Amino acid sequence: MSVVALAGGVGAARFLKGLVRVVPADALTLIVNTGDDREFYGVHVAPDLDIVTYTLAGAIDPEKGYGLAGDTFQVVDTLAGYGHEAWFRLGDRDFAACLHRTLRLRDGIGLSRITDEIRRAQGLEIPLLPMSEAACPTYVRLSDGSSVHFEEYLARDGAPDDVTGVDLSAAEAADPAPGVLDAIAGADTILVCPSNPVVSIGPILALRGLKAAIAASGAPVVGVSPIIGGAPVKGPADRLLRGLGVEVSARGVAGFYRDWMHGFVIDERDAALAADVEALGLRCKVVDTLMRDVGVSESLARTTLTLADQIRGLA
Ligand code: GDP
Ligand code: CA
Repeated sequence: MSVVALAGGVGAARFLKGLVRVVPADALTLIVNTGDDREFYGVHVAPDLDIVTYTLAGAIDPEKGYGLAGDTFQVVDTLAGYGHEAWFRLGDRDFAACLHRTLRLRDGIGLSRITDEIRRAQGLEIPLLPMSEAACPTYVRLSDGSSVHFEEYLARDGAPDDVTGVDLSAAEAADPAPGVLDAIAGADTILVCPSNPVVSIGPILALRGLKAAIAASGAPVVGVSPIIGGAPVKGPADRLLRGLGVEVSARGVAGFYRDWMHGFVIDERDAALAADVEALGLRCKVVDTLMRDVGVSESLARTTLTLADQIRGLA
């Protein structure tokens, strides 16, 4: 069995904590969004790669959901004292990991290999692939006509509501990282984590050849709704979906994914939407998807794999 999971940051990491209990490390490949990557303080920050790595390695700051537990903030605080903008909170040990990434990139080493170095240093067994080695910044378009980098939109501006669209043109022009298309081609099951559909999964899907590779793989594609009861559990998915004209609901996300997805797991609070999801052409399962603890994540992971098996059985 070979499982590929498409992942963003916090929502993905919560789900993956359960999935790694169910799928052996050598049968699992994670493909992680890099649309949020940006240089801060002279270092290459890769928020989603680091959130997934730190979470699965058990090193994440559990309160924040990003950064390393027990990290200090002397570098950014000192920089702020010199008058630098310091709205992006990057801990000191986190900074060192990003500095390592930056120095290696400067030596001409690819992001995939560096990502592997960082996950090994964290003691993580599961292979983690950046979606691309090219810069793929996601920009959010706002009603005043401006475009801001996603991290500026989220961390600096507090995710305002006046979104009119997203600019994924960099991802659209980029090739997937080495190993990504091969992993998809060899996958028996493709899972889509409960991540932000617009700015976490959207950039991965936008890469050159990605959707075609998914279709060609013939593997069942099963997702989990990041929207429960008409709202995201956390983060700005509601504002981004609305900005694209997509209904903020499990049904809306199912419609957004329906062209390339076969099964969708929605929350029991949204049981009334299951028939609508099936009417969109997706096989639907209804379970508890609010991942309060890793037990829920594990059971949710099992549900996605069972649904994939059922879809495979139907084919
Ligand atoms: P980010 O890059 O850190 O924003 O993380 P992701 O894109 O991976 O995930 C963000 C999405 O995860 C949000 O839309 C949340 O609603 C969703 N999410 C977070 N926790 C949960 C949960 O426990 N259950 C479900 N179903 N979705 C969740
Ligand atoms: Ca992210």
